[in-house]
Formats: sequence, structure tokens, C-alpha cells
Amino acid sequence: MIIDGMADRPLEELGFKTPLEAAATPNMDKLAETGICGIMDPIKPGIRAGSDTSHISILGYDPYKVYTGRGPFEAAGVGVNVLEGDIAFRCNFSTANDDGVITDRRAGRIRERTEELTEAVNSIDIEDVQIIFKESTGHRAVLVLRGDGLSDQVSAADPKYDGKKWTRVEPLDETQEARKTADILNQVVERSYQILKDHPLNQERIENGENPGNIILPRGAGAVPHVQAFSDKYGLKAACIAETGLIKGIGKITGMDIIDIEGATGGVDTNLDNITQGILDTAAKDYDFLLINIDGADEAGHDGNAQEKLEFIEKADQVVGKLMDLEDLYFILTADHSTPISVMDHTGDPVPLIINGPDIRVDDVKIYNERAASKGGLCRIRGSDVMNILMDLMNKSTKFGA
Ligand code: ZN
Ligand code: ZN
Repeated sequence: MIIDGMADRPLEELGFKTPLEAAATPNMDKLAETGICGIMDPIKPGIRAGSDTSHISILGYDPYKVYTGRGPFEAAGVGVNVLEGDIAFRCNFSTANDDGVITDRRAGRIRERTEELTEAVNSIDIEDVQIIFKESTGHRAVLVLRGDGLSDQVSAADPKYDGKKWTRVEPLDETQEARKTADILNQVVERSYQILKDHPLNQERIENGENPGNIILPRGAGAVPHVQAFSDKYGLKAACIAETGLIKGIGKITGMDIIDIEGATGGVDTNLDNITQGILDTAAKDYDFLLINIDGADEAGHDGNAQEKLEFIEKADQVVGKLMDLEDLYFILTADHSTPISVMDHTGDPVPLIINGPDIRVDDVKIYNERAASKGGLCRIRGSDVMNILMDLMNKSTKFGA
């Protein structure tokens, strides 16, 4: 169970405690008291991990080999059945004028009925390449190119700022594949504008004084990597309960079953009751392993809101409390990185980790936070150690040597 971005640095406004130290977390403390604690560098000491690369590492894959960019994981997370070799992009629905100037990168923060625009975009076909487009939340979407002779070495069409023309996609190396992919992407962008500018939904939006979603702007190219299925790697049937497309995508690309939770927003306003129930229902089924990600603490960290982060951690503690009665399992509680209030982004500080379960060598740590956990029996480990430790505890490891 990964409380996204939960770890932090000491804050003056909290009397030089971290939000986790300042929060009342009786259930996490109990889990620590009856388990073994340590701190973990998700990738290696000092490396600022993204949520994606951290999760990849904790699941025992090498993020430096597997991670080819955010596109493939986002695409998988919104339900595109990505295949090895596909080139995937993150996209925005944006607003353009006839000169190609982007007047609103987020198309008036369009929220509703983007699936109608998606349907129109999916009618685009270019040469021998299959265009797969899918809306995500809000103004976000994903684009997947499938076919021979494609490359992820292409630049972004998104100009990053309003008031600029969309950027023509350029190949980033000399290969024929990169040239072909850039050419196709430029055609996709141009044709998306032709198809979407007079789309009925956009006409309605213009009448209502809202910016139309009349162009799609791809960025963040990544080739879908080859990833050994989690079930093959460990012999464990696994499910993923996550809120964001990114983490669901990691579950999907590693072959896990994805459990969707109603009301899971990925923010501090998420429906933790539904998430708890979803975990309990899934745990009762025939799975050997659950990857759980709860996202709100990270959002509060990015917003620099200490009080909100502290309160969300206290709510997450209630979730932990309701899961503690589950029997005959190993419960690992950790974070995927620190998202300190003072930095408002991820840092390379290690995160606290507990393992609780049968035959654990319980240590002297009695509370759960960054500093207390550093005195625990696991000492300081890396994300890539977690699955090895778990497999060993479950007696599912094979011996190295005689
Ligand atoms: Zn994260
Ligand atoms: Zn984050």
C-alpha cells in the first residue's frame, strides 16, 4: 500500500515535524509497533523519483530499462490495450484558431462529452499506421500510433504556452522511423483541427461562450516497452487498485487486473470509503498480491498545503485501520517518494516503510514516520529490494547456491 508522496521534510509551521510526524496515525503506529520498519530509497539515494519510475522499481523492474516515458503508461491506464512497439503520447484537447495559434491549451478546461470528440479523432487514418485515440480526465487524452517503422524520437506539438502556434513535430534523430513518425504526427494534428473545428459539440461550446476543444496536441512520446508480466516474474496473481491513470497504467503494463473504484479522484476529496471497500472486496477474491496507491497526500504536497496533507494522512490512517483485521498476509505500507511541502515537488529523501505479517522479526520502532522508521530492523533499503524481501518472507524464493 503506497500513500503517494506521503513522506516530507520537517516544517517550521509544524514545530519542525513532518506532516506524518504531526498527524495522529494510531493505526499506522500499531502496524509499525507489531511489524518491522525501515526507510527506503525508491530508486537509489538522492534520486528524485516520479510516481511511475518509483512504482516500477518497487515492483522489482529496472526503471532505467522499462521506463520509456509517460505516454505508454498513461495510455494503458485509460484502457488502451497497448502492445510492445506502439508509440504512445499524452495529449491535450486545446483551442486553436485558423492560423494554428493555440489560444487555450486546456480548451476551457473541457470536462464533459470529450468521448464525442474522441470518436471524430479516431476516424483519422494515415498511410499504414493505426491511430488509436482515447480521452482521459478533463482536457487530457492519449494517442497511440501502431504500425511498422515508427519511433519515439520525435518532439512535442504542444507549445507549452498559450498564444503560440502549435509546434511542428520534428524527428530527434536521423532515422527514417523518426522522420516518418514526425510526419504522421503533424498530419494528425492538422487533421484533428479540420475534423474538430466544426464538430457539433464545439459549436455548442462556442455558442455558450466556452473555448472549443478543436485540436489535439501530442507530447511525451514513448515506445511501449517489453515488460515481463508480474505473474510470470513472481508466480503471484496480482490486482491493482489505484486512482490515477499513470499508476493504473503500470498495473496494466505489468499484466495486473485493474480494479476501478467509483469516486476515486486522486485528490484529497477522494472517496476513501469506496477505496477501502474495494480493497476488502478484492482481497477476498483469489489474488496473491494487491498493489494499492492512494494519491491525495501527493496532491497536497504539490500544492504546498501542510494542513491538508496532514489531514489526508489522518484519513489514510483510518483506511489502514480497516485493513488491519485482514489475516494471513503481509502488509507493506510505504510511500513512493517524498513530496515535501517546502519543495512542492518530489525529492530524493528516503521514505518510511513497514512490513507486518507472520514470522516478522518485530523491531523496537513503535510509531510510523520518517525518523522513527529509520531506526527499524530493515535499516535502509531500495525500492528494488522490496519484492525480494516479500518473496523471501512468503517462502516463495529459490535459493541462490547450494
Ligand atoms: Zn507518487
Ligand atoms: Zn507527485
